Amino acid sequence: MSSGNNSLLMTKVLASYRDPELGKKILAQVEQWADRACHRLGRWPVIMEVCGTHTVTISRLGLRSLLREKVILKSGPGCPVCVTDYGDIDRAIALARLPGVTIATFGDMMRVPGSHGSLEEVRGWGGRVEVFYSPESAVDFAHCHPETQVVFLAVGFETTVPAIGLAIEKAQALQLGNFYIFSLHKLVPPVMRALLTDKEVMVDGYLLPGHVSTVIGSNAFRFIGTEFGVPAVVAGFELVDILLSLAKLLRLIAEGRPQVLNGYSRLVREQGNPRAQALIERYFEPSLASWRGLGNIEASGLKLRLAYRELDAGLHFPLEVPTPRIPAGCACGEVLKGKVFPQQCQLFGRACRPERPVGPCMVSSEGACAAYYQYEAQGAGDQWEGADE
Ligand code: SF4
Repeated sequence: MSSGNNSLLMTKVLASYRDPELGKKILAQVEQWADRACHRLGRWPVIMEVCGTHTVTISRLGLRSLLREKVILKSGPGCPVCVTDYGDIDRAIALARLPGVTIATFGDMMRVPGSHGSLEEVRGWGGRVEVFYSPESAVDFAHCHPETQVVFLAVGFETTVPAIGLAIEKAQALQLGNFYIFSLHKLVPPVMRALLTDKEVMVDGYLLPGHVSTVIGSNAFRFIGTEFGVPAVVAGFELVDILLSLAKLLRLIAEGRPQVLNGYSRLVREQGNPRAQALIERYFEPSLASWRGLGNIEASGLKLRLAYRELDAGLHFPLEVPTPRIPAGCACGEVLKGKVFPQQCQLFGRACRPERPVGPCMVSSEGACAAYYQYEAQGAGDQWEGADE
């Protein structure tokens, strides 16, 4: 089949997953299963979408407010920029201030406020900060600029790590001596464990991240059902994907079946992607990581393996930063655990707005506060209050 035919087919397939008429039919099923779940629980079911891309899509499509009479949809810790801890942001900013160092980063990190400014501001003050769309481009930059030490801020979940592995492969092939990784990676299954053991996080079922599951596989989340007795469904990102997964999840809740299902089987396999997993495994090993709002979680981060430690920016540029200054009133930590809706933060829409963010949840394109501000503005707080009654 030619590439033209392929893209036509892909457009048709995507259109079917965005079909509003089909969406309406599935929405009716969602509501029916929500009624039954309510009947079983004695209250409306509470579902957390763990992934930041789901948060944005659900807000953009208006699903949260559309379903608010029957299902309480809360957002979780699925925005990698948002969960990056205050201290790590301060360390990245301190690195950017070192003479002879260039920070290479994805664009989302630029405006995240640290204790004393952001990377964007450091650049304005003369620091070297470059934005890249891929880690490989940062390697190319380092190759062309031997006069500077390039530190790549490796932020992201399992989805972005294989690309970092490929960048390391390329840096090694080029025998670069000026390319380093500042690994701030986070892993999703350990944070799920942290949420599931937190008694204050009251959730009846989870919509699990589709992108991460393409890498680690849906089986990596089976423990949610077997160990914690909570149902969960891996979901895709189009209207029909999300509604179908919601219907599946509500059915599991209604029938009291704590299973983990794959609602994104067109891309997610039970075992995930072995090649991507091998790339992660080759270069990284699990390590303790600090999450904004969730604190230190064992084996929830990744550090470079011993054989690649010469690339570790944390070892090459050891920096002590003062205790971070956390902005008064910012509820990002509570938002990331689904304990409050963004509108319940006293700064939301007042001192904290997209053009003048106080916390990362208002900066990132996957941040819950930014998504709620752009698409929902009012209403979810009422929904939350309804849940507490
Ligand atoms: Fe933090 Fe702003 Fe969100 Fe409040 S509205 S939680 S200050 S990002």
